[in-house]
Amino acid sequence: MEKITVIIPCYNEEETIPVFVEEMEKVYTSMREKYDIDMEYLFVDDGSKDKTLIILEEYSEKNERVSYITFSRNFGKEAAMYAGIENSDADYTVIIDADLQDPPELIEEMYRILKTEEKYDCVASRRYTRTGEPKIRSWFAKMFYKIMAKISKTEIVDGARDFRMMSRRMVDAILSLSEYNRFSKGIFSWVGFETKWLEFENRERVGGKTKWSFWGLLIYAIDGVVAFSTAPLAISSIIGIIFCIIAFLGVCFIFIRALLFGDKVAGWPSTACIICFISGIQLFCNGISGIYLSKTYTETKHRPQYIAKKICRHSSETEKK
Ligand code: UDP
Ligand code: MG
Repeated sequence: MEKITVIIPCYNEEETIPVFVEEMEKVYTSMREKYDIDMEYLFVDDGSKDKTLIILEEYSEKNERVSYITFSRNFGKEAAMYAGIENSDADYTVIIDADLQDPPELIEEMYRILKTEEKYDCVASRRYTRTGEPKIRSWFAKMFYKIMAKISKTEIVDGARDFRMMSRRMVDAILSLSEYNRFSKGIFSWVGFETKWLEFENRERVGGKTKWSFWGLLIYAIDGVVAFSTAPLAISSIIGIIFCIIAFLGVCFIFIRALLFGDKVAGWPSTACIICFISGIQLFCNGISGIYLSKTYTETKHRPQYIAKKICRHSSETEKK
C-alpha cells in the first residue's frame, strides 16, 4: 500500500477548511476505488487567530485521515510547507492551498502520471490565467518572472503554484537544503528532477480572503531574487563603474574648459542635482549589499524554520508543554 500525504498550510482558514475536507474526501474515495493507497491530510496551522485550530481538532477526532501540526505563532507559508514536508513519511507528498484555488481533483491525475511515467518525480501545476486578480498585481508578477528568467540560473516558471505532488526522493532532496530564507518556488526547481506541468484556469477563493498584500508580495519577490541570484550585486558594481567613467570624463571636460575660457563660478544648481543623484545611486547600491548581508546574517543564526506547539498524527501525538 502506498501512502500519500497532502500538506495544507493554513492561516486563518476557518471558512475554507470544511469545504476543503469535503472535496478531499471525494478525491480520496475516487482514488481508493482504483488504487491501493492510504491518504493523510496534514494541515499545518500557521498560528491562526480564528477558529482554524478548533476546526482541525474536531475533524481529526472524527476523521482518521486528518492530522495537524500547530505553530506557536505565525511563521509564514514557507515555514508551514517546510514543516509539512519535514513531517511527511509518505511515498508521495502533495502541497496544496486550503482555499481550493488549487483544484484537489488534479491529485488523482498527478498520482496517475507519477505511477505510469517513470521519468517524472514531480507533477506540478501552473495557472495560465490570472483573471480575478488586480491588474497591477498581474503586471508586477509578470515583470518578476521576466527579470528572474534573465538574472537567475534557476528556472522559475510563470504562474507556477506551490500545488504539486512529489516523489519520496525529491522530498528528501528538498529537505537536504537547510537554508533559513526559503523560497520554495526556486528550491523545487533547483533540486532538479523531471517535472510535468499541469495547467488550470485561475479560480477564486471559496471563502475568507488572501493573506498577501501588495507589499507582502513585493518583499516576497525581493526574497526570491536574493535567494536565487547575485546579479543585483554585480549590477550595482557596474552602475558604480559607469558613474566613475562619467565623472572622469566630466572632470576632463571642466578642466579643459577652465584652461581655455577661465573659471566662472556658475552652475551650482546643476552641481547640487548631480550630488543628490550620485548619493541616491550610492545609497541604492549600499542597500542592495545590505539586503544580501542581512540574509547572510539571518542564515548564520541557524534559527529553526518554525516552532511547533503540537503535532497530532493518528500514528503519534506530541504536545510540547
Ligand atoms: N498561508 C499560511 N501562512 C501565511 C499566509 C498564508 O499558511 O502566513 C496559507 C493560506 O492559509 C493558504 C495558502 O497559504 O492556504 C495561500 O495563501 P493565500 O490564499 O492567502 O495566497 P494567494 O492564493 O492569494 O496567493
Ligand atoms: Mg489562495
